[in-house]
Amino acid sequence: MRGSVFADLHLHTFYSDGTYTPEEVVARAAEHSLQAVALADHDTVEGCAAAESACGRLGLEFLPATELTCELDGAELHLLAYGINTAHPELLAAMDRFQEVRQRRIREMVARLNTLDVPLQAESVFALANCRSPGRPHVGRALVAGGFCSSVDEAFERFLKRNRPAWVPKFKITAADAIELIHRAGGLAVMAHPALNHLDPRILDLVEMGLDGLECYHTKHNAGAVAHYLALARQFGLLVTGGSDCHGMAKGKPTIGSVKLPYEHVERLQATIADRRRRAGDQEPAPEATIPDCAFHAPR
Ligand code: AMP
Ligand code: ZN
Ligand code: FE
Ligand code: FE
Repeated sequence: MRGSVFADLHLHTFYSDGTYTPEEVVARAAEHSLQAVALADHDTVEGCAAAESACGRLGLEFLPATELTCELDGAELHLLAYGINTAHPELLAAMDRFQEVRQRRIREMVARLNTLDVPLQAESVFALANCRSPGRPHVGRALVAGGFCSSVDEAFERFLKRNRPAWVPKFKITAADAIELIHRAGGLAVMAHPALNHLDPRILDLVEMGLDGLECYHTKHNAGAVAHYLALARQFGLLVTGGSDCHGMAKGKPTIGSVKLPYEHVERLQATIADRRRRAGDQEPAPEATIPDCAFHAPR
């Protein structure tokens, strides 16, 4: 039976640029008979608590995650952080900064659109996004809602894609810093949709920085790409993950259910997360040493 159990470890909600609530994502996952899910919203973990509760109610396994936009010598890559402590102060502070960068960038993109005689207002993008972690898809949707473009794809093609007139480069954490941050927050760092980033020659460098896994299964990976990244994961001793990268209705048809990660990879991921936690715990002072003397713990 185990061979027919699947997971989706790359899902977005309306806390970033998806359209589903956490409860809706989990309900869709249950409809697709998925056993385990992870929310991987951009630069936020706000949806994780609600998704975890919904998973509890429906008997699904939940992994907290986030997707961080990173930079490696000028090239962009996305790192998925699995099993992080969602209350980790340093991680939360870093994500606050990334969210501020995103909000400032929206204002800059809108200002550029205004110079192009597109009278969009930043406030209408923020109202539509209604989240702390807005992104270009929200600008695209606002352009469609305002009647300036007929589709989000057209908005990207005309204005928002890299080097298009309203595109604004974004500050990104370096991959090395992101991997260290993810590890300090108790998580594992996985390279998202590697086929989209054309950084295969740098995977060994990322492994040396501490990369833990490759997202081999992804909506945009064809069978050849899946086989290629599974082989690379084996070669470099990396964990294997996968997910649909579902954004709800944001990109037309919801992709949840289209990518099914064999459950054995979730077991390996969870075992590695637990092992790292145990090792990190081992390095901390023994609990006895930190318990103050009292009537019940008096040294004998
Ligand atoms: P941002 O984080 O603001 O740079 O936006 C990145 C998001 O835009 C990701 O979720 C991408 O999937 C999405 N995206 C990138 N290119 C396109 C495109 N051509 N059409 C629609 N969405 C896109
Ligand atoms: Zn997204
Ligand atoms: Fe991504
Ligand atoms: Fe994503």
